[in-house]
Amino acid sequence: MTVIADYAGKSALENVKAAIEAAKQNNEYNAILSFSEERALERAAKVDSGEITGKLAGIPFVAKDNFLAVGTTTTAASHFLEHFTAPLQATAIERLEAEGAICIGKANLDAFAHGGSTENSAFGPTKNAGDQTRVSGGSSGGSAVVTALGIVPFAIGTDTGGSIRQPASFNGVIGVKPTYGTVSRYGVVAMASSTDTIGCFTNSAADAEMIMDIMAGRDTSDMTTLPDFFKPVEVKANQKIGIIKEFMTDDVDEDVRARVSDYVEKLKAAGHTVTEVSMPILRYALAMYYIIVPAEISSNLARYDGVRYGRRADSSNLSELYGKSRDEGFMAENKRRIMIGSYVLSSGFFDAYYLQAQKARTLLINAFNELFDTYDVLVGPVSPTPAFKIGENASDPIKMYLADIMTVPASLAGLPAISVPAGQTSDGLPVGVQLIGQRRSDAQLLALAGSLEGDA
Ligand code: GLN
Repeated sequence: MTVIADYAGKSALENVKAAIEAAKQNNEYNAILSFSEERALERAAKVDSGEITGKLAGIPFVAKDNFLAVGTTTTAASHFLEHFTAPLQATAIERLEAEGAICIGKANLDAFAHGGSTENSAFGPTKNAGDQTRVSGGSSGGSAVVTALGIVPFAIGTDTGGSIRQPASFNGVIGVKPTYGTVSRYGVVAMASSTDTIGCFTNSAADAEMIMDIMAGRDTSDMTTLPDFFKPVEVKANQKIGIIKEFMTDDVDEDVRARVSDYVEKLKAAGHTVTEVSMPILRYALAMYYIIVPAEISSNLARYDGVRYGRRADSSNLSELYGKSRDEGFMAENKRRIMIGSYVLSSGFFDAYYLQAQKARTLLINAFNELFDTYDVLVGPVSPTPAFKIGENASDPIKMYLADIMTVPASLAGLPAISVPAGQTSDGLPVGVQLIGQRRSDAQLLALAGSLEGDA
């Protein structure tokens, strides 16, 4: 099944105009922060005249607003970069455009991608595609919602600790967080450099395979990129699959567990073996993440000083310039993370927090590797609950962080993990199942998901 193929053969100008029109009609979701209308229409005309060709010729898409994109602002949903225009094109967008795809606009997110609900956006929350009283998830909430509403056939986002997988599960679409290093981060606003990844949202596994294949590969501007390994494959038969015991406890919403169990039955019916596996170290993963990631954030966000990029506050001396610019430009959650990060890196506490967390991270990586000696894939929920109400967790950072408990382990270990729609709760809220694989098994995960599509 592919949705992108439905667009091919139609006039690019019509495809692009229809997408922009649909996005404007769905303004109430607050999923799009800006349009790149003029440039998009120009490119569409070139596709129709045959000047631009490629596998994605004339296919409209939306990029999370932390990708530098020519033709509109790059705000990272922050006041800091509110009026910032990109001096260059992100590699991921450049590669999609080289195949003829057309970026129509930029999607809402939690400011600087810090969050799991899009409520931390300086421009207001994005509403869930199926229930406007609920969050879209985050931080790539806008990208998930435009894909779920069918405004565009695919959108791109970033996943540092779950920001593609969790909103995908909350809105009922496919979300791909690839192996660390699969897609170049050049031209993307950095959050935590040791776990930042770039991936996509689609309505079918085959579409996701195509988009990832196009974006993947070595880029000399991002030295962490791997040589291109992402090639669509046939699904492997008789896979050994482990269902993660620690993710299926009573603390997890009953309907979420039920949908994951249904998916496991489908895997078994397709000839795969599914057995329970235990990874006791998972209970420490969230603590590792919320030490390591803020540490990297505090360092990456030091560049926003009021001098070099974006906002510059009125001030009479340099320290006031730094202080006021950062105070006005960052949201509360950004400041919280900068403070936590600076604390865990400070000389008196470095050994106790940062170093300890990095050691624990090695144990987590080893535990995954040991399981992958036996198992092809690990399965579990994406999130312990379906989409929560807007405002429900907003005043309690710990509660918000706890929602990331199932997505951060794959991020810390650099593993590919995808979110696959697995039906709905009794209230009609989408539930996603998470498939985690060994490094570079991304295409195999998508092939597995694709093989089970359609017989839900
Ligand atoms: N919700 C997670 C966090 O707040 C993940 C964010 C992300 O992947 N960008 O850190």
